[in-house]
Amino acid sequence: MSNTVKHLVRQMRARSDGGHGAGVGVTAGATATRGAGLRTMRELNRGLVLNCIRTEGPLARVAIAERTRLSRTTVGSIVDALLTDGLVREGELLSAARSGGRKATPLHFNAAAGVILGVDLGRTHLTIIAANLAAEPLARQSGPLDTDAGPDICLPRVADALRRCAATHGIAWETVVGVGLGIPGPMDGALRTLVAPPRMPGWDRVDVRAALRRALRVPVYLDNDANMGALGESRFGAGRGVADFAYVKVGTGIGCGLVVNGAVYRGSQGFAGELGHLTLDVDGPRCDCGNRGCLEAVAGAGAIVRAALSGAGSSVEVADVADVADVDVANVVRAARAGDAASREAIARAGERIGVALAGLVNLVNPSLILLDGGVARAGELLIAPVRAAIAARSLAAASASARIELAALGESAIALGAVALVLDAVFAPAVASLTPPPRRVAIVG
Ligand SMILES: [Zn+2]
Repeated sequence: MSNTVKHLVRQMRARSDGGHGAGVGVTAGATATRGAGLRTMRELNRGLVLNCIRTEGPLARVAIAERTRLSRTTVGSIVDALLTDGLVREGELLSAARSGGRKATPLHFNAAAGVILGVDLGRTHLTIIAANLAAEPLARQSGPLDTDAGPDICLPRVADALRRCAATHGIAWETVVGVGLGIPGPMDGALRTLVAPPRMPGWDRVDVRAALRRALRVPVYLDNDANMGALGESRFGAGRGVADFAYVKVGTGIGCGLVVNGAVYRGSQGFAGELGHLTLDVDGPRCDCGNRGCLEAVAGAGAIVRAALSGAGSSVEVADVADVADVDVANVVRAARAGDAASREAIARAGERIGVALAGLVNLVNPSLILLDGGVARAGELLIAPVRAAIAARSLAAASASARIELAALGESAIALGAVALVLDAVFAPAVASLTPPPRRVAIVG
């Protein structure tokens, strides 16, 4: 194992053993109290310097000292260590003019120093993205998975798929600094287990994080899949630069990830964003969660398929499936795009109901953007137009006028990319969040 990865993994293990879940979404104050006991000031300063180079580099040592407000001596010794560990590398000498009077060597972040594996663990699929430390994808692979088989069978399969993915793409396992996963269902506040997931009953309270960590021997981070879609779109997709937005995934279930003030909002216990289980019809059909008339029971893929097949003159292709319940919503979307009136009507009705639910969200949260994703969103304007109309009709005019409704940008990579960002945040961000830069020119050298 290289020094670099050893150091990162050691840091990660120390942090995740500290008791906090992913190490993200934790307030700066809480991390500072806990972190100060765990790490030396030098470790914090090291994180500060590394993040400075990573997010603002290439930078000369003197510029790093100015930005971090650490002394030049401190910066110099930390940079030497980072060079030895391979996390930064020196570039060509900057001319005197460009560096403000003196020749200086710029320092670059070495994104190739480690690999992150981001996973979208769906009920019927598994997508893996391998990325470098700048979140640039190195490889992507996708295959079937059946979570109905239960965690005892699925989790070893996931671990095996991750190791095979790395091997296939020439990634040494020793270079993996962490694995992030997006999983469908409500997560506990510590981001370790699913709590009563309506569609994965055998997974309730299973410590997915510990099981995978044992099997993979690297730090593992989890979050709800819609939260990871929101994080992915926030960092790399249509939500970049947007402080307050909602990511809504419409498939068999209807999930929602909220970004508030630029960060994923998880609520007090981690259950925020359960848009799919808002009651839309008090006497409506039974939902998998046990309630009646939830949004996903009246506007999820199952409801859309049933409505499209029972609509007058429906031309949805069912000849190739044994059971009507097996008709995928993709068939309905295809038929709608081809002009089938019953399919269009089914998608429009679902869009209206989703819009009614989102009108409530618009009134409560006042997002400037709502991103639609998932299998049903492939219908494009056939879904978006009724969603827009319902939001406009049923929320306060001022709030709805400032909310754009668009398709998400990352398609089937959103959740896995969000999971990559989850690990990146855990690896790099806490060091910054936990340390308020000391006053200028006053630094503690470890
Ligand atoms: Zn429900």
